[in-house]
Amino acid sequence: MTTTVETSSHIPPIARSTTATGLLIGAVSGKFILQECVECGMVQYPPRDACHHCLGESMAWGEVDPAGTLIAETFIHSSNEPYFRERLPWRTGIVASPMGISVVCHVLPSCSVGEPVTMSLRFDEAGCAVVVASVDESLDGVSSNGSRPVANDFVSDVQGRTLILNGLESDLARVLSEAALKRGARVVVSEAGETGASTGLAIRVG
Ligand SMILES: [Zn+2]
Repeated sequence: MTTTVETSSHIPPIARSTTATGLLIGAVSGKFILQECVECGMVQYPPRDACHHCLGESMAWGEVDPAGTLIAETFIHSSNEPYFRERLPWRTGIVASPMGISVVCHVLPSCSVGEPVTMSLRFDEAGCAVVVASVDESLDGVSSNGSRPVANDFVSDVQGRTLILNGLESDLARVLSEAALKRGARVVVSEAGETGASTGLAIRVG
């Protein structure tokens, strides 16, 4: 199935906390990585500076089970963001995980409410890591009602692609570079940036 996706100069919102850095590593490596509390073991989403369960401040990132159930969905028909305004209606939903978390996801066409889905971390068109729900990639190329997103709205695999890392803190740039090369990214260009630079607008996947 061939899908043509409209392109424009607009990109999705880029504001991200550096607390969410682990999501970028997951998107590069193709693994579903979320925060885990070192003290009590609880998995949490969205990323925070402290554990929502025990208030512990030692949080690690680990690969977790991407399975869940789509328990709610909505089609967004209005947005102040130019990127989304050109792609409405946009489907989002909530995926409940057996780990005890609920994750707001971009929902691809193969998903149905009440049915099992698989979550993954992918890059959106701004180079930010986002959580996407899918059931069958072969059915995600186009939606029956013309809504978005579809599979091509995200980059799910960096193999053979060019990653440009720019303005990232050096340790993060190194980790992302290594993960990208390991996954088969064609070229990685890294320019050291200031410590603590925003993770938004830092990555381009071409
Ligand atoms: Zn905890």
